[in-house]
Amino acid sequence: MNIDKFLPINLYEAKKRGWDELDIIIVTGDAYVDHPSFGASVIGRYLEYFGFRVGIIPQPDWKDKESFKVLGKPRLFFGITAGSVDSMVANYTPNKFKRREDAYTPGGLPGKRPDRATIVYANFVHEIFPDVPIVLGGIEASLRRFSHYDFWDNKVRHSVLLDARAKIIVYGMGEKQTLQIAKMLSEGKSWYEIYQIPGIVFSLGEKEFDTFIKDKDYILLPSFEEVSQDKDRYYDFQRLLLEGMKRKKILVQRDGKRFIIQNPPPSYTSQDLDFIYSLPFMRLPHPSYKEKIPAFETVKTSIVSHRGCFGSCTFCSLNLHQGWQVISRSEKSILEEVYRLTKHREFRGTISDVGGPTANMYRLRCKIHNIPGSCPERDCLFPDVCKYLEVDHSAQLNLLKKIKEIEKVKHVFIASGIRYDIALKDEYYIGEIIKEGYIGGHLSAAPEHVKDHVLEIMKKPKFKVYEEFVDIFERNLKKYRKELYIIPYFISAHPGATIKDAWDLAMYIKGLGHYLEQIQDYTPLPLTPASCAFYTEYHTLRKEKIYVAKTYEDRRLQRALAQYKDKKNREFLVKNKKKIPFPLEKLLG
Ligand code: SF4
Repeated sequence: MNIDKFLPINLYEAKKRGWDELDIIIVTGDAYVDHPSFGASVIGRYLEYFGFRVGIIPQPDWKDKESFKVLGKPRLFFGITAGSVDSMVANYTPNKFKRREDAYTPGGLPGKRPDRATIVYANFVHEIFPDVPIVLGGIEASLRRFSHYDFWDNKVRHSVLLDARAKIIVYGMGEKQTLQIAKMLSEGKSWYEIYQIPGIVFSLGEKEFDTFIKDKDYILLPSFEEVSQDKDRYYDFQRLLLEGMKRKKILVQRDGKRFIIQNPPPSYTSQDLDFIYSLPFMRLPHPSYKEKIPAFETVKTSIVSHRGCFGSCTFCSLNLHQGWQVISRSEKSILEEVYRLTKHREFRGTISDVGGPTANMYRLRCKIHNIPGSCPERDCLFPDVCKYLEVDHSAQLNLLKKIKEIEKVKHVFIASGIRYDIALKDEYYIGEIIKEGYIGGHLSAAPEHVKDHVLEIMKKPKFKVYEEFVDIFERNLKKYRKELYIIPYFISAHPGATIKDAWDLAMYIKGLGHYLEQIQDYTPLPLTPASCAFYTEYHTLRKEKIYVAKTYEDRRLQRALAQYKDKKNREFLVKNKKKIPFPLEKLLG
C-alpha cells in the first residue's frame, strides 16, 4: 500500500512526501486509524487540506522520551490528545480495576495509553521541546477544561490546562479552532489575538485578564479554591457552567493567580460537516499495524450523518463536548461518502450504521429556532418532547432508502441508539425501520432505569414512555412479520438509585426472561451533571439531598442484582444477603 497516502508517523514517511519539517505534530493515545471516526485523523486531514504539514505520533512509548522525537520539532505547535476516550475511562473499569483491553490499540492490548495521557504527553513535550506551544484537544482535555470532580482521585482537580502547562485547550470537535490557531501562528499573530478564537480555553494572569475581559460580557464561575473545598459551591459551579454554555457566554474561573477563560463555541454548518467528511481518509489503520484494532472494526463501514445531541442526559459528556445543537450533513454528501465506501477494498456490501450520537435526530427541525438544541432556557426532550420539535423522520428514511439503492450496497443498518421518546411521536417511522430491514437483528434503546425518580436525576423520559415504545415496536413486528428484538440498556448505581431501586430493576429484568449483558456500572465522567450529583449528593435539578451508592460494595451489590444470573454475582448476593432487605430467593429462584 502507498504509505505516503497516510499522514506521516516518522521522519522517513514525512520525507517521502517531500517534507523536511512538520508544521504541526499531533500526539494521540489512540493508534493511527485514518478514518473520520478518529479525532486525530480528522484534525490532521483538515489541516493538511489547508496546506499545513501534519504528522501523527500515535501511542508513543510514554516511558521513553525518544518516541516523542520521531517527527522532530514542529514549526508551529504540538497538538496533544489522550485519544477517543478519557485515558482513565480507557484504563480502568467503573470499579477502578485495570482494564484488560483497549479497543483503540492493535490487538486490543492494554497499557499503550498512560493514565492521564494528556498530562503525561505534555510533560514529555515540555521537557524535549520547551519552546514549542502545546494545544490540547480531544474528549479528555475537553471535559477537564475547568476544575472538575475526578472519580479516580476522588477529589476536585485543576483544569488540565494548568496541569499540562498548555497554551490552549480546543474543546468540542475542534477542526475550526485548530485551523485558526495554525493560520494565526503561521501569520505571526500574537497570543492575545489568538485568544479571541471561539471554542478555545486558555489562561491569563490577573493583569492580562483585566485587559482581556474589559467591556466583555462573561459569567464568573466559582473559583477552584471554592469548588474544591465546598460542595455547595461545586453544585453552583455546575449549574452556572451549563447555563453559560447554553447561553454561549464567555466563562471564567479563577484558580489561584490564574484565570481560566472559555470562549463561546464556534458555529458549525451542514456545509462544514460535508467538507470534513469529504476529506481523503484512507479508512484504514496505518499499514505498520499487524493486528486488528477493535474500535476500527466496529466503525469501518459506518457513516456519520450528524453531530450533537439535543437530549440532556446528565450522565453523558456529549453536550459538554459537541453541544446541544444537532448539525446534519446534506444527503448528497452522505450518498457520495457511501459511494466512495463501496469502492473500498474492505467493503462487503454492508453499511453498518448511519447515525450520530442518536440516530433519529438527523435533520429534525425546531419550529421556532430551526436548529433544535438552541433554547438556553429549556431542554428539547425533558421533561417531555418539546411541542415545537418537528418530529418528522422522512429525511432519515429517504436517506436510508437512497443508500440502499446504491450499487453494491446489500444492507444498511441503524446501529446507533435511537431516542424512543421522539420515535413514539412518529409511528410510521417505527414501522418503516422494521419493514425496510434497517435494524440488524436488534434495536438498541436506553431506558437506563425503571424508576422514575432515578430517571428524573438522569433527565430521561419516564419509564412508561419506554414501555409504550416497546408495545408499538412489537405491534409493528407482528404487522411486518419480522423477528427482531430490543436490547434495553440500563445503568446500575446511578446517583439517586437505592438498593430498593436496584431490586426493582432486577425484578423487571427477571420479568423479561432473558439475561441482559447491557448493564453498565455508573461512571462519573468529568464535568457532567451526574458526576456533580455523585460528588455533592445533590439532585441534578435542585439542591436536594439524594442517596448515592459510593462504596465498592454498594455499587457492586446493585450491579450483582441487575445481573443476578451470573454465577459470581449470585455468590456475591448470597454472601451479602443481610444487606438486601428483600426475599432474595424470589430473584434467584
Ligand atoms: S423550542 Fe423546543 S425544540 Fe426548539 S430548541 Fe427550544 S426546547 Fe428545543
